[in-house]
Amino acid sequence: MAFALSPLPYADTALEPAISAETLSFHHGKHHQTYVDKMNAAIEGTPHADASLEAIVAASRGTNQGLFNNSAQTWNHAFYWHSMAPEATAPSADLAAKIDEAFGSLDVLKQQLKDRGLGHFASGWVWLAEKDGKLSIEETHDADTLADSGFNPLLVLDVWEHAYYLDHQNKRPAYLDAVVEGKLNLAFASENLARGTVWTYA
Ligand code: MN
Repeated sequence: MAFALSPLPYADTALEPAISAETLSFHHGKHHQTYVDKMNAAIEGTPHADASLEAIVAASRGTNQGLFNNSAQTWNHAFYWHSMAPEATAPSADLAAKIDEAFGSLDVLKQQLKDRGLGHFASGWVWLAEKDGKLSIEETHDADTLADSGFNPLLVLDVWEHAYYLDHQNKRPAYLDAVVEGKLNLAFASENLARGTVWTYA
């Protein structure tokens, strides 16, 4: 069964000015769509055709780099769209307490997300994640994902250049500042923490 491109959970203008409708038209409509299409082509007629996306990511890791890249990018981008909201959302009491425990405050977490995003060399992803009840910031390179990692990913930031080049050119700090300060969906992170199991693609 072919996977559909997961829809944006908001209008394509909803993240402006941090992320423009033009960026989303390419990033969601072209980049994300291409990952989905390439994955669908790779699984057609194989035992993967009836598997969940999460199972395909796990099964292809280390065994089929092309399928891993496209399935992980399909998952990562869907998770990324949900990690942002038109207006920043508040953490649950439980998430707020865990943020304070791990980072000292929400402001420190935000600064560390920006610092790790800026420091991440080349393309990849910066995650807020939970494992054994503790929060941490994790980084993955290129298409790599936390979907099958043993962590429970709570939210993610795309630091590939295609995420920000049209709006901010080479200024990754401006993109990170606009998203982390204005668009972070901590309600989504709270749902992921409360569920206690890895979010699934639908
Ligand atoms: Mn991307």
